[in-house]
Amino acid sequence: AVHLVWFRNDLRINDNMALYHACTDPNALVIAVYFATPKQWHKHNLSARQAWFIYQHLQSLNDQLSELNIPLIYKEVALFEDSIPVVLSLCQQYKVTDVYFNRQYEFNEQQRDNNLKNQLSLYNICCHHYDDSVLLPPGKVVTSSGNMYQVFTPFRRRYQKYFLQHSITVLPKPNKRCQSLLSEHHAKQIRSFNYPMLSSTFFAIGEKQAINLLDKFCEQSVENYLAFRDIMSINGTSQLSAYLTVGILSPRQCLSNLLSKHPNLLHFSQSGAYGWFSQLVWREFYRHLLVAYPKLSKNLPFIDWTCRIIWRNNEADFLAWQKGLTGFPIVDAAMRQLNSTGWMHNRLRLITASFLVKDLLIDWRQGESFFMSQLIDGDLAANNGGWQWSASTGTDAAPYFRIFNPTTQGKRFDPQGKFIRQYLPELADVPDKFIHQPHKWAEQQHLNLDYPKPIVDHKQARLQTLTAFDMAKLTS
Ligand code: FAD
Repeated sequence: AVHLVWFRNDLRINDNMALYHACTDPNALVIAVYFATPKQWHKHNLSARQAWFIYQHLQSLNDQLSELNIPLIYKEVALFEDSIPVVLSLCQQYKVTDVYFNRQYEFNEQQRDNNLKNQLSLYNICCHHYDDSVLLPPGKVVTSSGNMYQVFTPFRRRYQKYFLQHSITVLPKPNKRCQSLLSEHHAKQIRSFNYPMLSSTFFAIGEKQAINLLDKFCEQSVENYLAFRDIMSINGTSQLSAYLTVGILSPRQCLSNLLSKHPNLLHFSQSGAYGWFSQLVWREFYRHLLVAYPKLSKNLPFIDWTCRIIWRNNEADFLAWQKGLTGFPIVDAAMRQLNSTGWMHNRLRLITASFLVKDLLIDWRQGESFFMSQLIDGDLAANNGGWQWSASTGTDAAPYFRIFNPTTQGKRFDPQGKFIRQYLPELADVPDKFIHQPHKWAEQQHLNLDYPKPIVDHKQARLQTLTAFDMAKLTS
């Protein structure tokens, strides 16, 4: 038997369902393939930082697989669908009997996989696919009437109950194969992607490093998670999102590591460990929603009447937001964190998304795409979920009349402006008391700050937004 493993966003050898199952038969020859799809990546706004992150991990996966005697074949095609004929020709060339892959839940990806399954069945090649990127498969946790939950809390309770009753299986890495099917295709080094790549020194590369980070977080930091998770000047969160998005870590590894150090966490919902468990379930919630509601992959809001909102879509304001030049320090520092590192703290994602939608009345989809184009952890389900939550267009979203005041948010979560000062050096001399409204201090001091005045008046903007939402709702 010859088994082909198709790697996607699962670039690891530990706890990888497709890889593990492809290797259970000790006599099978195992080969692997990865496709770069630059044109598709452009369409999906894949960020240059995530492309770099994938590329680095693909190289390290190549080395790890070589040690297991599994050659990795690297191919580049334009679009997802272009990979299917290449897979079929690899199957012919290597007399592949079985193809293994882990499922992806986005619409285009699902279409590609359905097409693959049909084609493989025509050639009598067995196809094995797994729900690897989630703790529980989409469709498993549903309401008593069999539908996907639209509210998070009962969904989370079901997860809690499930893991109180069932243990988690984390699969080991496969053993070294006795024989290797080496080929002229097997590259010693992976060719550089035909796609912009931008490095980020903030994220260590390698599966081992990721496991160490997880271990350290669960051991040392998770206890204080609830106290520190909203304070952006403190590294109070795990910063593991990029590893989860690209599949360097699995959510099962995360939960299992957490439970090994905090075995009673599911009994104490006030603990830091439970708080972190809850975040892992948010990740699941948005993935399950993507499967239950394909419209979420198609640029549509969950709440239909919000389609009718008339957005302002002011190009100059959108640009000021992107560049961190709105005159609201917490918003600007956050956007500069995103632009310079590819990552943004969760509280700041909430603040900046709310500012774009509710203060500038700019279509949330513009913000969603911009985030995707910058984030190292960019993930359709989580990003769309986060944007629709902030824009009040999503399931279990913030009600539209509840609008964050960016200045108050800044005062609450960065009281002395420690975080702000890290990213806005031009505000170094502004006293703590004025750090959230530096233009007021500049006026008092008759100074010219090298920093813009606020581009909107929050109170007025709030009223304008309420009217726009009210109008859209009334006409529904
Ligand atoms: P931790 O607090 O340590 O959480 C652990 C893990 O749980 C994260 O790594 C992540 O995988 C998951 N998680 C945490 N919060 C959420 C959430 N609200 N939704 C879904 N998963 C969550 N997360 C992404 O992974 N990719 C995105 O593209 C993304 N875009 C977002 C856009 C907006 C507007 C908002 C409000 C949130 C977005 N998030 C996204 C969710 C969240 O902000 C990040 O997952 C988190 O900041 C990552 O930091 P961390 O790893 O330290 O998280």
